[in-house]
Amino acid sequence: MTLIPLTEEQREIVQLARGFAADEIAPHADKWDREAAMDLGVARRMGELGFLGMLIPEQYDGLGLDTVSYLLALEEIAVADASTAVLMSVHNSLPTQMLLNYGSEAQKDRFLRPMARGEKIGAFALSEPDAGSDASALRCQAMRADDGWVLNGTKSWVTSGSFADVIMVMARSDSPDARRGSKGISAFIVTPDLPGFHVGKKEDKMGLRASPTVQLTFDNMRVPAANLLGQEGQGFVYAMRSLDNGRLGIAAQALGIARAALSASLDYAAERKQFGQPIKDFQAIQFKLADMASRISSARSLLHLTALAKDRGESTTLYGSMSKLLASETAMWAANQAVQIFGGYGYVKDYPVERLFRDAKITEIYEGTSEIQRIVIARELYASRNMD
Ligand SMILES: Cc1cc2nc3c(=O)[nH]c(=O)nc-3n(C[C@H](O)[C@H](O)[C@H](O)COP(=O)(O)OP(=O)(O)OC[C@H]3O[C@@H](n4cnc5c(N)ncnc54)[C@H](O)[C@@H]3O)c2cc1C
Repeated sequence: MTLIPLTEEQREIVQLARGFAADEIAPHADKWDREAAMDLGVARRMGELGFLGMLIPEQYDGLGLDTVSYLLALEEIAVADASTAVLMSVHNSLPTQMLLNYGSEAQKDRFLRPMARGEKIGAFALSEPDAGSDASALRCQAMRADDGWVLNGTKSWVTSGSFADVIMVMARSDSPDARRGSKGISAFIVTPDLPGFHVGKKEDKMGLRASPTVQLTFDNMRVPAANLLGQEGQGFVYAMRSLDNGRLGIAAQALGIARAALSASLDYAAERKQFGQPIKDFQAIQFKLADMASRISSARSLLHLTALAKDRGESTTLYGSMSKLLASETAMWAANQAVQIFGGYGYVKDYPVERLFRDAKITEIYEGTSEIQRIVIARELYASRNMD
């Protein structure tokens, strides 16, 4: 639980998410992982419960909740299954926020409302085979056509891309000769029914296996003019601003994984006996448990304080990057400790920590690697020089 005081409503949200995760997600998480398949019924249920519209105002059919409520719910879902959590995080943090902040009223009516109700799932397509950390190097090309745009190119690593109904695609809208870097990139609202839209290779991943990660290719895909988001040439700025908040979601996902690792370790250390006593009585094991709990609490405190700052309208670039860095490295470290506490049993699929170890790793990579977070943090330190 968090150290910041919670309202009655926030406590109820935690209970709702915890109950839903325990009843409808946790019992299936190992199977989904083994079969590398997501049950879309769960996404539908999340929509019915409001978990896919938590940050959207009621005016657009969302719940209009604060960021701490959202992060608390997301952490509960991630305790049960990191794959389900990433669907929730991407949907809530990226495409819906871009529509809310930069979309026209017509776009909000057509796309945001059904997404807030959970009837349509969102995805975010920025990365390409040769444009990862340096996303401004993307090459997907949008050319003006009479009635809109024609897109050509390939997007890689698109979370939920095989079933998403609304995909926010960043593409170059400047002429191929102009190459105005990040200034020549626009954001387009893409739906899978557009002619020329193709779902490509599904990645065979180490972890997060139930979440489909796919390539998308656009082959002379015609996008109506009405699907340009906001201003032409501003897509990269929109995407970067949204990632500032997306990182808070990934931090909550990481905390859920870390918490699951701690919980499994507490149970196992109390049951497992060696040298005639439960291994929890060995100080070496107690120290691991104590360190796991301490790191989780400290990462969560920073995350929730950052969420409060965001809801006060302050920039979250610095503390959001710190939160993501701290939480993801805590998740990876805690999952590693958990495998160690389980010994040989931690290395096999009979116990959950093997999956947690595999799932934790991705939180150090996507929505900005740990190296990129450190670059952002160092840059912000010099920019502001106000770390008191
Ligand atoms: C499971 C999964 C889901 C994903 N989901 C999405 C999604 O939904 N939408 C989307 O757009 N993308 C998505 N991604 C892509 C993800 O955001 C990128 O993988 C990530 O940004 C890193 O890019 P890269 O893989 O090209 O690595 P690279 O950028 O090639 O980096 C390789 C290594 O070099 C380091 N590095 C790079 N630049 C620097 C630097 N300047 N200084 C120091 N070190 C540096 C990196 O930190 C890393 O260690 C997903 C990826 C995965 C694996």
